[in-house]
Amino acid sequence: RPLPGRWVYHDGEFTPFAEVRLPPTTQGLHYGTGVFEGIRAYATPGGEGAHLFRVQDHYRRFLRSCRLLRIDPGLTADELADVTVELLRRNGDQGDVYVRPLAYKLGLLPGTPPGVNLGGVSDAVTIVASRLGAYAPPGGLRCLISSWRRPSRAALPVQAKVTGAYVNNALAVEDARAAGFDDAILLNEAGQVAEASTANVFVVRGGRLATPPADADILPGITRDTVLTLAAELGLPAAESPLHPADLLLADEVFLTGTGIGVTPVIEINGRPIGAGAPGPVTTHLARRYGQTVRAEREDTHGWLTPVQAG
Ligand code: PMP
Repeated sequence: RPLPGRWVYHDGEFTPFAEVRLPPTTQGLHYGTGVFEGIRAYATPGGEGAHLFRVQDHYRRFLRSCRLLRIDPGLTADELADVTVELLRRNGDQGDVYVRPLAYKLGLLPGTPPGVNLGGVSDAVTIVASRLGAYAPPGGLRCLISSWRRPSRAALPVQAKVTGAYVNNALAVEDARAAGFDDAILLNEAGQVAEASTANVFVVRGGRLATPPADADILPGITRDTVLTLAAELGLPAAESPLHPADLLLADEVFLTGTGIGVTPVIEINGRPIGAGAPGPVTTHLARRYGQTVRAEREDTHGWLTPVQAG
């Protein structure tokens, strides 16, 4: 289980985790009016220090999500990245760490009429960093195609990480787990494959990769983008194209990508084995390359790594 560090960044200051207090009127609790990110830092092989992976890209997405909810954290993506480095340094975190920035609506400003407002409501930013162990089961995932559909971007800004929207993901995961599966794969309202509960979906067929396009109501994941970049470098053809449930069941390989789970094989969907029912060679190759990339075992040609020095 993730173990929160001693310090959090809360409302402009570094504060002990145990001292953060939020009023029960916090609007984000009532209406789900918050946005968040999930960022990881990986221990450097050899043990000295760690690196945050694509932290500026995560904070750029965070700021886009904030703008939708009319939240101004008052910090640039670079400044948020600096705050995060300082947070990890203060916590003395040199191992694998999961960083959770959260920006949320707090309470009505004087003179604002009560209601489901976005304007006229104060907001706050809290960043928690937690130690993290292994996230995904090593042998691959067994997934259920959920009967819950991912909402359309006409109903919710699915490109943003809005807290309230995750009720949909939670319902899908809950049902999948109750039926004995590891995770859910959600279709969009058109019946196309959208994504898993907290990860994007790829299929491999005949040595080619395919993943649903941005307009399939997905969250355009940073790991998805990383994998598309690594695939191009490895000479693996990849397409962003609509996928249907049958494309998953008939694939040679299926894998998920996300900050939390990295690149993780799916070995079974709805009780049917995918390919040989074991992690396939393309997934294994990409997962290894991804692991080397995030752990600074390869040259950082894209400027994706931000070092965290010991405190
Ligand atoms: N989809 C959803 C719904 C998610 O919550 C996540 C995790 N952030 C992803 C996809 C994967 O995105 P990323 O690779 O940026 O972590």
